[in-house]
Amino acid sequence: MNQIIHEIGNHLKQANHIVILTGAGVSTDSGIPDFRSAGGIWDTDQTREYYMSNHYYRNNPDDFWKKYKQIFQLKLAGEYEPNEIHDFLKRLEVEGKHISIITQNVDGLHTKAGSRHVLEYHGTLATASCPACGDTYPLTYVMNTDIPLCGHCSVPLKPDVVLFGDPITEHEKAEQMIEQAEFMLVLGTSLWVKPFNLLPEFAVYECNIPAAIINREPTAKDNLFDFVVHSELKKAISKLQNDLFHNN
Ligand SMILES: [Zn+2]
Repeated sequence: MNQIIHEIGNHLKQANHIVILTGAGVSTDSGIPDFRSAGGIWDTDQTREYYMSNHYYRNNPDDFWKKYKQIFQLKLAGEYEPNEIHDFLKRLEVEGKHISIITQNVDGLHTKAGSRHVLEYHGTLATASCPACGDTYPLTYVMNTDIPLCGHCSVPLKPDVVLFGDPITEHEKAEQMIEQAEFMLVLGTSLWVKPFNLLPEFAVYECNIPAAIINREPTAKDNLFDFVVHSELKKAISKLQNDLFHNN
């Protein structure tokens, strides 16, 4: 593993513009459960796709909001803090790299860590919007009442998280970020969710850039990558950090 980490480190040193894809594995060390993997909250509810869907929101907004707040532990959403992995990505930026982050996470922690170019591919827990007038409301407003309503239109707000059945609106923007990059690093995602999991193919086949993945478990897309590391993310990032910032 050390040799592969070293080679990934070399690519990070050489590239000026790096695109990072992140998933749930990046946030677990901040105490945020992986909503999808075994033992995660999503997994314990077979009907999650039914409840966390655009359809359920439209037909039963009261119960939708109740379940939404439970599933995402929304009460705690403001209290989570970035961990070493978020900080590492921010550090790369401080060291002069252009770091574009495309994240599946809805917790806002990359931005909280100070990263400046973050695309929240699956939206954000931080806000909710009125489907009628488009006004956006912060989490504090959302938590104030059981079912948050728009102050102007009195219709139930819709979370700014992408629900099942919602269109993905950021895919093209994600591809544009990848087109500008010289290296792709994928962290803490099983690359299971479509169409997010098409982005590495786009990098490798359309943009011809080298790509690396660090994830605890093997993924179905591992064969796409020039460098594959199966490890606890925190451990691998700590090695990478030593390589990059202490052995100059
Ligand atoms: Zn409104």
